[in-house]
This record gives sequence, structure tokens and C-alpha cells, in this order.
Amino acid sequence: MHVIVTGIVISSFVFSMFVVSSLMSGKSVEPDGIHIPVVYTLRIVMSDDKATELHRQEPNVSNNEWKIRTENNNVNFFKKEVEEEWQSPWYFIQGADPQYGLIERYINKNPIPNWDKEIELTEKVVEKINSLNPKPRFFVICGDLCDAVPTENPDLYKAQEATFKRIFSKIDPSIPVLVTCGNHDVGDQPLPEGLEIYKASWGDDYYSFWCGGVLFLTINSQYLADSKYVGEFASKHEEWLYEQLKLAKSKSGSRVVLLQHIPWFLKSTDEEVEKSYFTLSKEVQRAMLDKLVDAGVEKAFCGHYHRNAGGTYKTMEVVVSSAIGGQLGPDKSGIRVVKVYKDKIEHEYYPIDDIPSSVKL
Ligand SMILES: [Zn+2]
Repeated sequence: MHVIVTGIVISSFVFSMFVVSSLMSGKSVEPDGIHIPVVYTLRIVMSDDKATELHRQEPNVSNNEWKIRTENNNVNFFKKEVEEEWQSPWYFIQGADPQYGLIERYINKNPIPNWDKEIELTEKVVEKINSLNPKPRFFVICGDLCDAVPTENPDLYKAQEATFKRIFSKIDPSIPVLVTCGNHDVGDQPLPEGLEIYKASWGDDYYSFWCGGVLFLTINSQYLADSKYVGEFASKHEEWLYEQLKLAKSKSGSRVVLLQHIPWFLKSTDEEVEKSYFTLSKEVQRAMLDKLVDAGVEKAFCGHYHRNAGGTYKTMEVVVSSAIGGQLGPDKSGIRVVKVYKDKIEHEYYPIDDIPSSVKL
């Protein structure tokens, strides 16, 4: 019963659960160039009893009430014929990493799994978004919806998933809630069964849609991070992405925005390390970034870093939003307001308490 951080035993405890860690460890680079050790995986495994008890506290919100409404990797509530052309300024809300359970497990190193703090934060977010005027066209949550990995800790995951669905189902029904797939949602090294669980819980793990003159491509960055055990899924994802980019390129002046979990980079492609926990690898950057720029991708909105960051590669801006949930840096839990104009996209991050009640376009 040990918590092992980069090979060092820092804590042990006796409880109705035990904590295990894979012994994988690595180094990551902060934007200022400082190398910090990173724990790739640190998992809590808990007793069935405790997880069942937590699950029972959540009323059942049916999947159908919540799943993203996609068909063949297309969101079907935005009609292409209507949405393809930009008509007037509009906005959407981007958030990331509510990650129910992270604060107690990872930040407070508390062996007792609860996510009361995340519940408090997300309830406030829902309240603030519901009172926005005018209403956003949609609210996208860029991955790490829950902290527990379903294939590793199914009972704890179910309890956290139930909390997510209970809270986010309170978003005004006129504001579609979309999600993208994060590393915690399918594991750092996804397995086919993990992807199936994800799809059954949330809907397609990648999809496109048009909204207000912009083509949105919601990608599953986990295929780009590690597809060792899900090669076939990753190939289909890649095929789909190239097809979407080709379509975008064939339509002159088309605008493309990516929504994803793991950022391409934090500040620029000059970051030192070949492979960082917080970004996609240099190899992936080299293979993909020019293709994205070439297809007219303007922005990529990401999460995963639990801090705000971002930078530009040629004409494409990578925007990294801090977490709705636990913070790993100086930022406060919050969301980003993204305004879409005819010739530009503007965005601003707001800590939850500072989310405005009206958005000027
Ligand atoms: Zn993540």
C-alpha cells in the first residue's frame, strides 16, 4: 500500500482501499524551462463497498439525457446547411479538467476519495453559465471529466461519472454540452475496452460540427499521445482527421477550430524536451502542425495542463485553458469565453467568481 512518486515512496496508509502506482516516471518541462518530475500514472484502487456507497449517493442520470448527440462522428444538433456560413458575432464557452477526485487524491494526498471541492466548483460553473446573457452557442469541456480511469478503477469511476452527469445535466438545455476525451477518461495508454466504455458513457470520442461559420474538429488527443494498444482506432481517427482537413481546405476561406485535451505545445514548438507529459511529442508536432496550418486551423483549444498557457505556430494559436477543477499552478478554477467574429476569434479566461453575467459581442 504505497504511493510511489517517481520511484520514491512518500506515503503509506491502511484503509479500506489501497493506492498503487505504475512505476512509469518521466520528466517534464515547465514553460520556464525547469525540469520537474512527473508521475505518469498514480491510481487509487478502492474497495467495492466504498465505491458503491459513493455511487449510491448520486441519483441516476440516464446516459441518454447526457450523451453527446453525434451520428457517424458528426454532432447532429448543429445543422450544417444553417451553420456553415458566419452570420453575426457569437460565442461559446470552453472549459477543461473538472476531473472529479483529483484535488483530494493528487493535490491534498488524501487517501479518502471524495470530490466535494470539485462538486462545489462545478455547481458554481453551472450556475454562472446558466445566467449568461446572451446564452453561449455551446459549452465544451476539453477532457479529464473524471479522475478515475474506468478500466483501472471502474467503481470509483462510476461514482465520479454519476456526479459529473448529475451536475452538468443542470446546464440550461438550450446550451449543448460537448466533451472531448482526456487521458484520465481512457487511460494514458488506452485499451480497446477503455474506448468502448468511453463511447458508451459519453458518445463518439471524436467528431466534427459546424457552428456559426466555423468547422469544429473535436479530436481524441490520446491517439496522438499513445496508441500502442489501440492502433486500429488511432488509424481510423487519423483517416477521419485528414478527411476533415481535406474538406476544409477544399472550401475556400473555411475556418477551422480544434477542440482537444492534450495541447500541441505550451508556449511554442521550441520547447526543449522531445516528449513532455503536458504536450504532444515533438514527433507528433512535426507530423501534424503544418498540415493543420495548411488546412486553415486558426485555433486549438486544449486543457490537461491545469494552468493557462498558449502560443502560436505560424497562423495557428494553441490556447491552453486551466482547469475547472484542481489547479497545478497559480491560476484559479475557471472557464474561457470564446468570441467568434467574422475575421477573428477572441478569448478570455475567467476564474469562476469573475465570470460575467453578460457577454458583449
Ligand atoms: Zn489530462
